[in-house]
Amino acid sequence: MKKPAVFRVPESIFYGRGSFENLGSQAALKGKKALIISDNVMDQLGYVTEGRALLHVAGVQSEVYLGIASEPTDKYVSEALDLFKSEQCDLVISIGGGSCIDTAKAIAVLAVNGGSIGDYLGGKKLAQQTPVPHIAIPTTAGTGSEATDVTVITNTFNNVKMMIKQPAFLPDAAIVDPLLTVSSPKNITAATGIDALSHAIEAYLSKKAHPMTDTMAISAMKLIAENILTAYNDGGNLDARERMSLGSLQAGMAFSNASVCLVHGMSRPIGALFHVPHGISNAMLLPAVLEFSQEACVERLADIGRIFRPDIVSGDGVKAAEIAVQSVKELCRKLNIPNLKEWGIDGEAFEKAVGKMAADAIDSGSPANNPKVPSQLELEELYHICYDYHFSSASEKV
Ligand code: NAD
Repeated sequence: MKKPAVFRVPESIFYGRGSFENLGSQAALKGKKALIISDNVMDQLGYVTEGRALLHVAGVQSEVYLGIASEPTDKYVSEALDLFKSEQCDLVISIGGGSCIDTAKAIAVLAVNGGSIGDYLGGKKLAQQTPVPHIAIPTTAGTGSEATDVTVITNTFNNVKMMIKQPAFLPDAAIVDPLLTVSSPKNITAATGIDALSHAIEAYLSKKAHPMTDTMAISAMKLIAENILTAYNDGGNLDARERMSLGSLQAGMAFSNASVCLVHGMSRPIGALFHVPHGISNAMLLPAVLEFSQEACVERLADIGRIFRPDIVSGDGVKAAEIAVQSVKELCRKLNIPNLKEWGIDGEAFEKAVGKMAADAIDSGSPANNPKVPSQLELEELYHICYDYHFSSASEKV
C-alpha cells in the first residue's frame, strides 16, 4: 500500500434474519419523531406499518413520505424535506431500495446544512454540521447504499444523475434484514443482484482499492457468485437471500471506500436519459467493460475468475482473467439481462445521446478510477458495443 487509507462504515450495522426488530431501540437512542422515507410497494407489503409499530412501542413518533415512485430526483428530495420540517422531525428512517435510502440521505444532510442537493455535487458545498440521524433499512440486495457515503439523485433541470459523495451521507445505522428482500420479484432480484456484483468487481479493480476494501470485495464476490442464481430461481430460499444481503452490504462498504469505475460512470447517463433501472443498466455494460479493461488488470481479473470457477482455474492468470469475463457474461445470460436495444431504446435516440452520455460519464469522475481509462471516443465506441451486445453462452469456451 503506497498511501495511508481510510475505511468508513455506519456506526452500527445490524444484520441477519429478524434484525428489523432492532429498529425501535435504535430509533429511541437517536430521536423522538421520525420521518420514514419509503414507497407504495413497501407500504402494501406491510413493511411501513411494521416499522411504525416497532417505533411506537419504543416511544418514537413517526410520519411517512411514500412519494418515491422511481429512482430519486431533486423533486422528491424537496418534497420530503418540506414534510420533515413541517412535521418537526428529528430522525430519518429509510425503508426500501436504494431510491428510498438515497432520498433519506439527502434529507439528513440538507435539514441541517441547507442549500439544495445539487450544491453538494463534487464537494462544491461541504456538509459542515452533523446531519440528522439516519437509520437505513434496505429491502433489495442491492445497492449497498445502507453502508455508503454516496447518494445518487437526478437533477431534473439538466437530466444528469448526480453521484454525490461525502462522509456526511453515510447513515448512522444500517439494519440489513434479508427477510425484507424475500418479496423482491425475479426481475428486481436479478437487477439488484448484478448491481451488488458490479460494486464488488469495480471496487476490486479500482485504482483506489486498498487492503480493507479488497477484503470486503472478495467476500462479497464469493457470496454473490455462489447465491445469485438460487435467489433468482428460488426467491423463497432464505439462505440464498441472507447471503445476497450480506454480499450486497459488503460490496457497498467496499465501493464506498474504493470508488466505482467505468461501469457506473457509463450507467448513470443511461439511467438519466433512458430511465433504465440502475442495476439493469450496470448489467448491460459489465461484460463489455470488463473486456475493454482486461489487458490492464489481468491479475486482479484472474482472482475474480478463480472465485467464479475454483474448480477449473489453474495458476494461468490470462486464462483465469478470461474466465472472469466469460463467467460474468454467462451470468447475465442466465439472469435474462437484455441489451439496450432489446430493452426498447430507439437506435436513433441512442445515437443522438451517445456524445452527451460519454461526456457526462467522464465528468462524473468514475471512469478515471478504471484500470484502463477510456478517451471520449473509446467511451462512445463502448456505448455502441453495448447497444446490441450479445450475452452469448460462454460456458463451452472455458
Ligand atoms: P429501487 O429502490 O429503485 O427499487 C426498485 C423497485 O423495487 C421499486 O419499485 C421498489 O418498490 C421495489 N422493491 C424494492 N424492494 C422490494 C421488495 N423487497 N419487494 C418487492 N419490491 C421491492 O431499486 P434499487 O436498485 O435498490 O435502487 C436503485 C437506486 O439506488 C438508483 O437510483 C441508483 O442510482 C441508486 N444507487 C445508490 C447507491 C449508493 O451507494 N447510494 C449505490 C447503487 C445504486
